[in-house]
Amino acid sequence: MLAVLKEKSQSGVVIKDVPPPKPQKDEILVKVKYASICGTDIAIYDWNPWAAAHIKPPQIIGHEMVGEVVEINSKEKTDIIIGDLVSSETHIFCQNCYQCSIKNYHICENMELFGIGRNGAFAEYATIPLKTTWKNDASIPVEAMSVQEPLGNAVNVVTKAEVKGKKVLVMGLGPTGLCAGMVAKAYGAKEIVGVNRREYRRDLAMKLGFDRAVNEIDESEYGTFDAVLEMSGNRIGIQVALDAVRIGGKIIAFGIPKENIDIDWGKYMINKEITIGSVFGRMIWDTWKDTTKLLIDKKVDLRKIITHRFKLSEFEKAMEVMKSGECGKVLLVP
Ligand SMILES: [Zn+2]
Ligand SMILES: [Zn+2]
Repeated sequence: MLAVLKEKSQSGVVIKDVPPPKPQKDEILVKVKYASICGTDIAIYDWNPWAAAHIKPPQIIGHEMVGEVVEINSKEKTDIIIGDLVSSETHIFCQNCYQCSIKNYHICENMELFGIGRNGAFAEYATIPLKTTWKNDASIPVEAMSVQEPLGNAVNVVTKAEVKGKKVLVMGLGPTGLCAGMVAKAYGAKEIVGVNRREYRRDLAMKLGFDRAVNEIDESEYGTFDAVLEMSGNRIGIQVALDAVRIGGKIIAFGIPKENIDIDWGKYMINKEITIGSVFGRMIWDTWKDTTKLLIDKKVDLRKIITHRFKLSEFEKAMEVMKSGECGKVLLVP
């Protein structure tokens, strides 16, 4: 089968034929229908220090996907059957640690990552642990099923931010930031403003229902946002988030900075009495259920953020588009 492989500990990938995988105990085998490229995949492609610490080549990359179940190798009780369209939760939890014992599976202390610590989904076939397999509702468009991970992250961020009736700022309009705007609207935010340097992303945000999408926030608006969703991970973006949030307001952090971030703790945490929360991933499976509801009720149309589709064999071209930033979500079709 064709697969996108991180073959060596260096930048780049190879696209080549490899033997199809066999499901191990308590795993399923799926025929991949669509996979989507995540920002993490750019880091893996470029082989940054984080990727080098987490991936042991040779390995098939990719974690956002939808596939059809072709084999189930388990005696565990499950409602998943052959032919189901399933997606994978990237965070493979251990079920033994303290966090798992209190149902915080998404921040498991011994977490393994699909397409990062083990073979992933940029291939014609993939194996997934049964415990991290999500059975999709058949009424959801199949392309959208592949993009539920970023949407799920957005759902968790917006849920924590409690946006109903609030003025909301979204710092950073990558796919998860764009999703956050759609979810905030669905959850009854009063006004949603997005910030991004790229005109392409701002235009996309306006099509998705943001009230405004701007290059930067005017200082006159500092201190007026009830909730700020920090999706950029950018040092300047984080500083703007601290200034833009109102006294007593809330910031939910999702974007991961590549450097240490300084905060004037007294000025913001004490004097402004703001709350800063953070999101690492989707609550398993509560967030997936909320995400499904948004899709079934057609409150969010994920197909609007899918801007490009490529064959698996065209992965290099797809990666080029991802890196250009002139895109929403990029789909791969095996
Ligand atoms: Zn992802
Ligand atoms: Zn655990």
